[in-house]
Amino acid sequence: MNLTNITVFQAFQACSDDMQNIILDVRTVAECSQGIAKGSHCLELSDIDNSALKTLSLDVNYYVMCQSGQRSATAIAKLENLGFKNLYHVNEGYREWQNQKLPIDIPQVNKHDLRYNRHYQLQGFGRVAQEKLRNAHVLLIGAGGLGSSCALYLTAAGVGQITIIDDDVVQLSNLQRQIIHTTASVNTLKVQSAKKQLSALNPEISINALAKRLDENNVDELINNVDLVIDGSDNLTTRYLVNDICLKYHKPLVYAAVYQYEAQVSVFNFNKPDMPCLRCLFPQTKGFEPDNCSTVGVLGVVPGMAGVMQASEAIKLITNIGQVLESQLLVFDLLDNSFRTIKYVKDNNCLNH
Ligand SMILES: [Zn+2]
Repeated sequence: MNLTNITVFQAFQACSDDMQNIILDVRTVAECSQGIAKGSHCLELSDIDNSALKTLSLDVNYYVMCQSGQRSATAIAKLENLGFKNLYHVNEGYREWQNQKLPIDIPQVNKHDLRYNRHYQLQGFGRVAQEKLRNAHVLLIGAGGLGSSCALYLTAAGVGQITIIDDDVVQLSNLQRQIIHTTASVNTLKVQSAKKQLSALNPEISINALAKRLDENNVDELINNVDLVIDGSDNLTTRYLVNDICLKYHKPLVYAAVYQYEAQVSVFNFNKPDMPCLRCLFPQTKGFEPDNCSTVGVLGVVPGMAGVMQASEAIKLITNIGQVLESQLLVFDLLDNSFRTIKYVKDNNCLNH
């Protein structure tokens, strides 16, 4: 590669009144939203691939610019590989353009492009996966420790519709781990408190807050209406009920449970045939209920981490990337930093199948 270096002033002179000469700015959308050289065409470095041929012309002379000259050199190498010939390297970059007080534009930037920019840049994710998130409807059971971190990340990630069901009220003793709630929300409904925080984080997300308990009368309709279910409940009765109905309607279920310093996370991927269920993993023992946080305590970060893992598995399920924890139980212990996965299979004696 033979870079033809020119100064910002030379680029300004060449491009100011000649349609054949165009400044190509390869900085990020976020950088360009703050200002660009007047008349520039913006195209992120990561977007310079075969699709660039749709927005660029092989007949135009491009004066390639970034902030300080490094990304523009890489861009020129990529453009040359695509067959572009008339390329000039503005080696001082936009910083020097500003220093010399040359004319700038403040472009209108699509807010989605800014909010989800790091997803758009991410290889294997991009706009296609983001659109899948936007079209997804997730049911989150519980706005407690698991639900707090899970809901915040799902909302930040851009999951279009989130229904949260919980009949509880925020108590001061919840705040050590239920980070979606604030001291000001003590004695208010958890779903209302959660909705307020989530809407502030991302107003584009539709949050449906249901201040009731999930039970046999409402569970069918709720689960049948969504794409995926996240169980953030704290009792076995609800967990088995959710498991059974998710299996019935073939809805993927993201499971987690916490105990003191430990947590478990798994995915029951019921939209595939022959997947094991919660009863295969832990057969129900009549009347058995494990100790919960209110009696044996829990380190606040444990449900936080497990909730984040649930959000991560949900995002992978929705966007169809990576491998999810199906037929595997992830168990982690924060005291010794151990993370292990245990494989399990469908139990042919399970009454559910
Ligand atoms: Zn089963």
